[in-house]
Amino acid sequence: MVRVLVSGVSKKYGSFYALKDINLRVDDGVLLCILGPSGSGKSTLLRIIAGLIAPDEGRVFFDDIDVTDLPAWKRNVGMVFQNIALFPHLSVYENIAFGAKLRKLPRNEIDKRVKELLKLIRLEGYEKRKPSELSGGEAQRVAIARALMTDPAVLLFDEPLGHLDAKLRESLKFEIRRIVKETKKTTLYVTHDQSEAFAIADYIYVLNRGVIEQGGTPVELYENPRSPFIAEFIGSTNFLKGRVVEVYRDVNVAKVLTSDVEIYVPVREDIGIGESVLVGIRSEDIKVSKEIIKRDTPYANILVGKLLKKIFIGPYLRLEISVNGLEESLKADVYGEDRYKYLDISEGDRVYILITKPTAFKYS
Ligand code: ADP
Ligand code: MG
Repeated sequence: MVRVLVSGVSKKYGSFYALKDINLRVDDGVLLCILGPSGSGKSTLLRIIAGLIAPDEGRVFFDDIDVTDLPAWKRNVGMVFQNIALFPHLSVYENIAFGAKLRKLPRNEIDKRVKELLKLIRLEGYEKRKPSELSGGEAQRVAIARALMTDPAVLLFDEPLGHLDAKLRESLKFEIRRIVKETKKTTLYVTHDQSEAFAIADYIYVLNRGVIEQGGTPVELYENPRSPFIAEFIGSTNFLKGRVVEVYRDVNVAKVLTSDVEIYVPVREDIGIGESVLVGIRSEDIKVSKEIIKRDTPYANILVGKLLKKIFIGPYLRLEISVNGLEESLKADVYGEDRYKYLDISEGDRVYILITKPTAFKYS
């Protein structure tokens, strides 16, 4: 097994930086996700680690070995892409065995390994099937087995679920995590889908325009986004511009004036009075009530508003609320049994809201 280290890697296309000064480390056996929107440089980074593209600057190490100048086939990486590209005329068995046959491994060794892998991907008995006789999810698992056949030091996934429908993605992401964790291989997994990254990763780096904006575990990113970009990408839906009018240092809470409304927001040391800030509020962090909400701390954000819109999504009820004194409306999501309680409120009705976890970002 291997630790992957990317040090100061940049890649330019013309004068455009597809990647700029990327530094990251994936420890032995860790499943790392690179999460970022389309065009942020994810595939470029993965290809540089695989040895399919050379960086303009920086180095790539597998353990202490500098592999930057090694071609892909000498790096011993296993790759799984979005377009699976199984060989259509070969059986599942032959597809999985393909790389090992090229390397002229002994037949009984190949046979043993293919059987182990079929067990790992839970497709025992599928040896003779052709790719056309597999579902999308089964085909993707065969592609994973094929990548594992030569016992790669590092596993690389580039949006392997991208072409599958939502239901299949949902189940296959857990399946991929299970398979990868069973092999204990150091893995980099690229995706643009936040929920996929959260379900799969031990650790996540968020990539934005060729730069790593933040690294953290799913919980760290969710609880402590360092920029509005991260907050939005991780799921914040409401953003309000405002100005800090008071800071209570003993509790590290700022009073932010946004339009005509005061909101109390936890802040770090670097935000002081007079500062312009953007306040991020996740829709799931707004509690809605038909009755007056009691204040249980001096910094509770309790506001009054009017229901503008109500949409039943299924797992949750999305409410759009115009708050007295706020220019923009807020979106709140009600989960659990409560979502049925609010089905009977009408557009135009008065509602009370409690904002539980706002985040402040410096803003200029
Ligand atoms: P992602 O995988 O995150 O969608 P990519 O790594 O494929 O992003 O691409 C990052 C950026 O680099 C994009 O703006 C893309 O247009 C550009 N790019 C990628 N490959 C090339 C290339 N061969 N020539 C020019 N620009 C490229
Ligand atoms: Mg890509």
